[in-house]
Parts: sequence; C-alpha cells; structure tokens
Amino acid sequence: MTDSIDSLVAEIESEYGIVAERIGKDKPDPRVLAALRGVPREAFVPADRRAEAYANRPLPIGFGQTISQPFIVAVMSDMLALTSESRVLEIGTGCGYQTAFLARLAGQVFTVEILAELSAAAKERLAGQGVSNVEFRVGDGRQGWPEHGPYDAIIVTAAAMGEIPPALLDQLKPGGRMVVPTGTSMLAQELVLMTKEEGGRIAKRNLFPVAFVPLVKARRA
Ligand code: SAH
Repeated sequence: MTDSIDSLVAEIESEYGIVAERIGKDKPDPRVLAALRGVPREAFVPADRRAEAYANRPLPIGFGQTISQPFIVAVMSDMLALTSESRVLEIGTGCGYQTAFLARLAGQVFTVEILAELSAAAKERLAGQGVSNVEFRVGDGRQGWPEHGPYDAIIVTAAAMGEIPPALLDQLKPGGRMVVPTGTSMLAQELVLMTKEEGGRIAKRNLFPVAFVPLVKARRA
C-alpha cells in the first residue's frame, strides 16, 4: 500500500485500539486528527525521504536526531488535553513537526532545543508555514523555560534517563499535564503521563514502551 495521509490516519486509529487500556481512550481526539491532516509532514523530513513522509515511523533528520513516529506525536499531543487557551512548553524542538501540532492545538508554544542548527531550521520552517504562536529558544531544556512559566502542559520529546528534570515539574501549573519518555536505555523506555494535582501532588501513569533519543546534558562537539 502506498503511504498516504489516509492510510496513516487509519493506521493511527487502529493503533489507538491496541493501546486503549494503557492510555485511557480508544480513538484520537478530533482536534488531534485535524492536526495530523493539517501539518504537512513532507515539509519536515529531508528532501530525499519525502516519499516516506506518510509512513508511520520515525525518520533521520541529521545531527543524529529523528522526526518522531506520527502515532507517537498524536498520542503525546492527545495526552496533554490542550485547548486553544493552553500555554505549552516543548523540550526537543528537533525539526519542529511536533511543535507544529502543538501550535494548532494550544494558544502559545514555547520550545527549547539544544542544537542551534535544528532550532534555526525549525523556526524558519514554521514561519514559512505561517505559524506565529511559537517562541524558540536554544539551550538545555532540562532547565525548562522559567520566564514564561508556569505551563498548562509540558512535552519532552527526548528520553529522561533516570530522574525527570525537577525544574520541569516545578514549571507545571497545578492541574497541568506533562508527557515524557523515561527510562534507563534506548531499549528500556516507557512513555509517562504526569499530572500535577491542585494540591501539588504528582500523579504518574505509565503509558507504553517507546524509543527516543536521550535528553543530552551538554552540547556535543
Ligand atoms: N519533537 C521532534 C523530535 C525531537 S528528537 C519531532 O517533532 O519529530 C529530540 C530532540 O531533542 C533532538 O532535536 C535533540 O537535539 C533534542 N534534545 C536532546 N537533549 C536536549 C536538551 N537537553 N534540551 C533540549 N533539547 C534536547
């Protein structure tokens, strides 16, 4: 079957069926489906991988990084329960594909990327698509972006090995939601949904296994 947006949507809908009990819902939110159809994934992948843009898998984007699998982008966006009023913090801008989803689903997006080249390319790409509710920062996302916090939602698109950066939990509003891949190695990661209750207590729900590049500590040479 040729990959098309229709086959991708169908595949994602059937994968929701598989993880329904783990994530607590059996179909994507209509707004998430609209984002899936509305964000042109072919504009986020390298020119020589365009034919694969609507395959449900991650692809390399250079610098040892990847564009995430569309199913994962859909579920992570969905778990944040965003509204057009939400302020959201994203750690790991990468090519900006997930960022573009958030820009459609939320009011204001703040995105942090450690590699300056990727951040600059994503910024230019989204500006070219007329996206105007995103602010970009180059730096270590493990510190969050306190100046614009607290946030209704936080999404981390690289794996937190060991502990979840405490600064991120601090910058989450009471009632806020955070999705983050956690684990000890590429092969032992779990996607986690953290909810900060009104009193400040953190509730944690393990969703399903994932494989993300790790959150790095410092800029690589
Ligand atoms: N969100 C992207 C996928 C991101 S891949 C998508 O839509 O497809 C993970 C990204 O996290 C990479 O670009 C990597 O450079 C970045 N990253 C890794 N460690 C980081 C850190 N400490 N702070 C900010 N970004 C980081």
